[in-house]
Amino acid sequence: MPGQSVWPKFERDGKRFSKIYSIASSPSDCPIVELCVSRVGWSSAYLQDLPVGGVAACAGAIWLMTIDRLPTRPRLYIVEGSGIAPIKSQIEWLHEQRFDRSVWLVQANPETPDELPYREVWRSLAENWPQFHHFETVHPESILSVMNLSEFDIDICAVDDRSGQIRDAVLAKGAKAEGVRSESFHAF
Ligand SMILES: Cc1cc2nc3c(=O)[nH]c(=O)nc-3n(C[C@H](O)[C@H](O)[C@H](O)COP(=O)(O)OP(=O)(O)OC[C@H]3O[C@@H](n4cnc5c(N)ncnc54)[C@H](O)[C@@H]3O)c2cc1C
Repeated sequence: MPGQSVWPKFERDGKRFSKIYSIASSPSDCPIVELCVSRVGWSSAYLQDLPVGGVAACAGAIWLMTIDRLPTRPRLYIVEGSGIAPIKSQIEWLHEQRFDRSVWLVQANPETPDELPYREVWRSLAENWPQFHHFETVHPESILSVMNLSEFDIDICAVDDRSGQIRDAVLAKGAKAEGVRSESFHAF
């Protein structure tokens, strides 16, 4: 399913644990699974530093920010940082399915705005898929006032409190609550 997640398993100082990472690639790439990992602590650094041919056992995939059928309404995606991961999977899948409603991606990368994940992917997609619109921004909330949010189904994915803050902002600007989903990337 587009937007599913996996749980890589880790072992550190004799302790076993697992963390969750969203799949950034379309299900059509299966069995290849692409992850988009922000380097913030031990686990994310471990994944980034895996050598070619290295092994990371994973549980999953599990359902979280998924779509299980072609949507019927235009889609608005609002993402920050590695929150792009499940959304990239969804957008690539919608493109493959020739989804004919508009798809808007509002993307920010607050910590390193000059290094927007997948910038070239979005440029190329926008050239080849008229329904797709991509906006780079530092503050996603600043773009929302120029859109009629009630006509969209909206998925939000960001780190920690930012998902909730963006969700509050879209609801305050006229989005329909039943059409809004949000996922928060937090450490646990
Ligand atoms: C449903 C879900 C899906 C997730 N998918 C992804 C994913 O696709 N890519 C990804 O990089 N992370 C993702 N995460 C976060 C991931 O599970 C880990 O929590 C993260 O990698 C931090 O683990 P760590 O051991 O490296 O650092 P920790 O020492 O556990 O955390 C260090 C600090 O980093 C913050 N933090 C956690 N995740 C992020 C992040 N992504 N960006 C910036 N700061 C962060 C934490 O709040 C904490 O303050 C997801 C979390 C959830 C709940």
